[in-house]
Amino acid sequence: MRKLPLLIAAILVLVLAFIPLFRQQNSIRQQEEYPDKDKIIIVYDNKALSGFKSAWGFAALVKFKNYTILFDTGGNGEILLNNMERLNISPSSIQYVFLSHIHGDHTGGLWAILRENPNVTVFLPATFSEAFKERVRSFGAKAVEINNPREILEGIYTTGVMFPVGEQALVLKTSKGLIVVTGCSHPGIVKIVERAENITGENAYLVVGGFHLFGAPEREVRAIATSLKKLGVRRVMPCHCTGSRAERVFAEEFGTNYVECGVGKSVSW
Ligand SMILES: [Zn+2]
Ligand SMILES: [Zn+2]
Repeated sequence: MRKLPLLIAAILVLVLAFIPLFRQQNSIRQQEEYPDKDKIIIVYDNKALSGFKSAWGFAALVKFKNYTILFDTGGNGEILLNNMERLNISPSSIQYVFLSHIHGDHTGGLWAILRENPNVTVFLPATFSEAFKERVRSFGAKAVEINNPREILEGIYTTGVMFPVGEQALVLKTSKGLIVVTGCSHPGIVKIVERAENITGENAYLVVGGFHLFGAPEREVRAIATSLKKLGVRRVMPCHCTGSRAERVFAEEFGTNYVECGVGKSVSW
């Protein structure tokens, strides 16, 4: 019987010894780049930092002026929620969803988000099917249809729907210039940035998202990088469908102002 207190003491010591370990794991999980700053966090991409899941598609969390906007949703809700959880981003923190275009690798994860948090407003191109819009509303979420360029929230614009696919890009007006977030850039990345500048009368500073250049010859990618620079673009973060070869060219062209993309990465300004 005299051994019992000893045993209890031994267990206590063991438990106490492991508590700091658990704490440490927690702090790694909650560590955030650029805390309390406006930023864009990549939550779904073809590439990922270790510990995250990568898949063909794109989604990014935009934190700007007290607004929390999910830009696109990737193709798979489970992967999206998994990556968000690892980044300590709760679906309930999302106020707005901005959908660039109808392709499944940008919209497939939406339903998982709406199941977790139907209390959101979804900005989507008016060209989306009625069935899609109805499905959004069936969750209790608000669907706002976009046709033309306009300010959708304070300091935040849509380029309006551009063709051939019917795609909109998100534009943030910051003190450094415009930040343009693109899904797949089917209308062409240069045309999108031009449009963003025309609507707002300001120069672009940073472009983030899919540039749709995989398979494009190097000469063409260099010409695009040059055009972006001429438009005033200082920094680029090419993601998703840009393609690794084009990304290499952008890295060369923009040097230290090239930001590598991938789930778990973020960019601030
Ligand atoms: Zn697409
Ligand atoms: Zn895509």
